[in-house]
Amino acid sequence: MKSQIRPEPSRLSKTFETGQLIAAIAAFVIVGCVMLAYEFVSLRQALVKDVEIEAAIVADNISASVMFEDHDASMETLRAFRPDPSLLSVTVYDRAGFLYAQYLTRNAAPPPEPSAAAFQWLSSTITVHQEIRYRGHQLGVVEFVASTADVRTGILRFAGLLGIASLGAMLVAALVMRRARARMDKAERELDYLAHTDPVTDLANRRATYETLERAMEVHARADRRLALLLIDLDNFKGVNDTAGHGAGDRLLRQVGATLVSVVRKHDVVGRIGGDEFAVIAAPVRDNAEALAIAERITEALRRPFHVDGIDMLATASVGISMFPDDATALTELVSNADIALYQAKVSGKNRLAEFRPEMTLRTQRRVRLERDLRKAMERGELDVYYQPQFRCDSERMVGVEALLRWPHPENGFIAPSEFIPVAEECGLIGELGRWVLLRACSDAASWLRTTGVALNVAVNVSARQLRDGDFIDAVRHALHDTGLAATQLELELTESLLMEDMDSAMEFMHAVRHLGVRLAIDDFGTGYSSLSYLQSFPINQLKIDRSFIQLLPDAGTTIAGAIISLAHGFNLCVVAEGVENRAQLDWLQRAGCDLVQGYLLARPIRAQDISAMLTRKRAQEDAVTS
Ligand code: C2E
Ligand code: CA
Ligand code: CA
Repeated sequence: MKSQIRPEPSRLSKTFETGQLIAAIAAFVIVGCVMLAYEFVSLRQALVKDVEIEAAIVADNISASVMFEDHDASMETLRAFRPDPSLLSVTVYDRAGFLYAQYLTRNAAPPPEPSAAAFQWLSSTITVHQEIRYRGHQLGVVEFVASTADVRTGILRFAGLLGIASLGAMLVAALVMRRARARMDKAERELDYLAHTDPVTDLANRRATYETLERAMEVHARADRRLALLLIDLDNFKGVNDTAGHGAGDRLLRQVGATLVSVVRKHDVVGRIGGDEFAVIAAPVRDNAEALAIAERITEALRRPFHVDGIDMLATASVGISMFPDDATALTELVSNADIALYQAKVSGKNRLAEFRPEMTLRTQRRVRLERDLRKAMERGELDVYYQPQFRCDSERMVGVEALLRWPHPENGFIAPSEFIPVAEECGLIGELGRWVLLRACSDAASWLRTTGVALNVAVNVSARQLRDGDFIDAVRHALHDTGLAATQLELELTESLLMEDMDSAMEFMHAVRHLGVRLAIDDFGTGYSSLSYLQSFPINQLKIDRSFIQLLPDAGTTIAGAIISLAHGFNLCVVAEGVENRAQLDWLQRAGCDLVQGYLLARPIRAQDISAMLTRKRAQEDAVTS
């Protein structure tokens, strides 16, 4: 497979085997030599002992014949040793040292030359002397000369046997080692495969991908050529894993991997570098346009649904591109730039691609800082909830409020929710943040009722990520229970795009909310899908016309605003106009029969205690009028 990193065959086992073989041979040689030397000494000593015994026997038996100088009898005694095959000669010298009698065998050679003691061990004969005595008187000396040929033959035979045994043993050892080496080779290959391959997709894993990238960067730097690193992140893989299970998730990843391999060029490398993150090393590329074309082919291919376990699954992806050497010359920088580009692709709406640009780094740094500060602010309780009043359009009487998050940053002043809410969504803080706002809003509304007797509706914004977390409905139930607020006083604001993203779970959530008695509003109406048909099927209570339409009033935008109002009324929905900034806008809305208004003209978002004060003031005014 093109995307796999095939390891070079390791020489470790070969080196190991050769070393062992040499050691085994050396051991055999040393042991063989020691055994041969021992055998030689034993055989030679046995021969010497035999000859010494023979010499003693001759010396005993020959003493009488020597004493009486019976030559024939002496020769008879000597010849008695004829059957001894190693015997060369037996010689008897008289007391004066003169030759008295000698028996020579057929093999007898001239008497050996006297040699140095060290070499006597190796000489081809041995000589033994024995005195001939009779009653304490020395009569002469008998000399035995024997051949060591038998010792040599014995040693040769022994060496032959030893050689054959050693060869056999080495053969067995070599066979055993060969099998051990085959097993070791296999284990090494398996280890290498595991270390470099992602088991789910069979693609290069993170380590192997970056190793390949490093090598490719070196090669392309020398050849003065460009390469592109593409990081690919699936947009909704967590959802697939959560709903269809990990098995289906793995099968989807395998298909995505295979698709990537099929759309890149033959020599490009595809690797899986994280849960739902892939990398493509496109090398070489002529220019950005070529890299972009590959990235487009990837996003295009991943837009088509994947067939997993009998169902069609969507696995759209975001792609970040970084070029070598244009964007970075070092590996970590190249990867980090591709990551920054990927991040930009994600935050600008997913299912798209982004090329790295230097200014992205600043934006990302600011975002990272923002995330860190937001965590701190939440821990320290620095966040606050402000409330923007909503009024009846006809009587201009305050009937509700919208809860809006406020973050007074200790250094940078107020940070707009439109800036930090997406960060909270991205880093997963939104769940905690959303639950906190909900609880604050419910408890403030409950306390206004307790202290002023006015039951204000309170609207809370809910973002897409909060719905996806699944336990938001429990948070709503707990907030109502813990604060004692009537469910009918709470309203949740959802955006159109949020509802269209995952229609089934949104529908389920809306029905669960309505079942509790909580009201639902569609926020920023008209800016999303503008599909009016769903107004019929969604269990909602209220529409909020987006500020962008209200701003056009009263000179323009009247057709759209008018149509929305009458359409909503047709479906029995309450209509809120948000962002009302001047009297002319309010006048037009009053004439058009809009139900509620919200905007800077009548009130800006203010603190909970200011709402409380406002209600108390109104109450006092009303009491004064009635009394
Ligand atoms: P939104 O839900 O559309 O909130 C209305 C925004 O319009 C608020 O901005 C409000 O201050 C502003 N506004 C109200 N009247 C006027 C007006 O007459 N003229 C102009 N120009 N603006 C007006 P804000 O507070 O900056 O909030 C921005 C967005 O942040 C909100 O838009 C909402 O989508 C989001 N947001 C705020 N608080 C929360 C929260 O607790 N949770 C979630 N998920 N989102 C929130
Ligand atoms: Ca809102
Ligand atoms: Ca809005």
